[in-house]
Amino acid sequence: KVRVRFAPSPTGPLHIGGLRTALFNYLIAKKNGGDFVLRIEDTDQNRFVEGAEEYIIEALNWCGIPFDEGPGKEGEFGPYKQSKRKDLYKSYAEDLIKKGKAYYAFDTPESLDKHRKEHEANGKTFIYNWHNREKLTNSLALSENEVTAKIASGEDYVIRFKSPKDEELLLNDIIRGQIKIDTNILDDKVLFKSDGMPTYHLANIVDDHLMRISHVIRGEEWLPSLALHTLLYEAFGWNAPEFAHLPLIMKPVGKGKLSKRDGEKGGFPVFPLTWNQSEGYRESGFFPEAVVNFLALLGWNPGTEQEIFTLEELINTFTLERVNKSGARFDPEKNNWYNQQWLQLKSNEELAKLYALELENKGIFAEQNYLLKVVSSIKERASFVKDFWELSDYFFKAPTSYNEKAVKKQWKEDTPEIMNQVVAVLESIPDFESSKIEETVKAWIGEKELSFGKVMPPLRLVIVGDMKGPHLFDIMDLIGKEESINRIKTAVS
Ligand code: GLU
Repeated sequence: KVRVRFAPSPTGPLHIGGLRTALFNYLIAKKNGGDFVLRIEDTDQNRFVEGAEEYIIEALNWCGIPFDEGPGKEGEFGPYKQSKRKDLYKSYAEDLIKKGKAYYAFDTPESLDKHRKEHEANGKTFIYNWHNREKLTNSLALSENEVTAKIASGEDYVIRFKSPKDEELLLNDIIRGQIKIDTNILDDKVLFKSDGMPTYHLANIVDDHLMRISHVIRGEEWLPSLALHTLLYEAFGWNAPEFAHLPLIMKPVGKGKLSKRDGEKGGFPVFPLTWNQSEGYRESGFFPEAVVNFLALLGWNPGTEQEIFTLEELINTFTLERVNKSGARFDPEKNNWYNQQWLQLKSNEELAKLYALELENKGIFAEQNYLLKVVSSIKERASFVKDFWELSDYFFKAPTSYNEKAVKKQWKEDTPEIMNQVVAVLESIPDFESSKIEETVKAWIGEKELSFGKVMPPLRLVIVGDMKGPHLFDIMDLIGKEESINRIKTAVS
């Protein structure tokens, strides 16, 4: 059975890269009728940040990619928080010692530092593995009695993995294929710390095994750990899951990984939800569908021209084989475009509801029917619901000022007189409806041998306050006869 997990450390808000990892895991789970597990990796208590776990859960739910098992949704393999599992890891580390795959190390931070500096002074890098093991303080260099005595006296120790000498490892990654690694470059990573907690590496492997994870899908920054993880599975005698390392997400311009600062400088979100001072996608008005859509295409391609995907379609088309190896450039402009596309796909009813909330905040209450018409006339030009007001304020209030440039260009000496005549024409229309208004005004223009340019632009200016907006007669139809006439009268008076 396909079982995947998203395993964030609650060290702060989930950024967009983490959310993409969660999404790809979710898609693989759902595509295969499998389970999507959320596991909180909080063994490093120093880096714990209050509220981060709740934030992660809320972000997944907001995107519509909820987990099947995890904190608060306990299943067969819980608990799903490593701090609640902490008593279980030590025996696994000790098991590796018994198997000769790991050892105790008593080196103090000071002595390790000293070794590092000595190596550096000779132009070498210090690696804690077979190159130096014998010269250090550990159970491979000391006698059994010395080790027992040290432990009995309560000396601090860590448990290190004994990485093999002179081996060539073949690692497998679904996206990258086979990777060859010379084990001599690997250091003996700490598996178990002196504070009684496992390190990420040990806890991660033990939990993936116990939770029956079939595929590990995670960011490329974990690729360097793949050798150790593969060796750990071997050492335990367990079958390793399959691995897929997702490409990095790159800055919109220039080189390097996307960071929080790029968002701060560029004025675009890098978090799904708002966190402290940083604006999130949800609060800046993105639809979750748009976020899921652009995230899916960050590093994955469907092999067709299709760009708009529902979650359902993604579940059907997504495969890890079509994930690219090279970094994916983050494009905030394109993200806005996705939202614009998704906004067009929303029903007028839904948009009207959202707009009504915005209007309420301004103290404006409008009829549902009226809102439906307003929304349908402007939505084409909007990327976000928050753009609506700017595009449609004149539907709710008469202009309080007129665009100066347009006034200069459109307002001629004879304009007031013409506008007064328009008032009379409008008054004569009993059935004040867009096509009727258009017909009547056009007929009058023809009759008077006026030009359109003399009538329509200034008319728009007095009704809207600017040269923007949809078909002018539609606007007049919506705001009504009385309001249209009032606006003209206010302007010429
Ligand atoms: N806790 C790690 C993280 O924060 C998990 C890495 C993994 O998926 O193995 O990304």
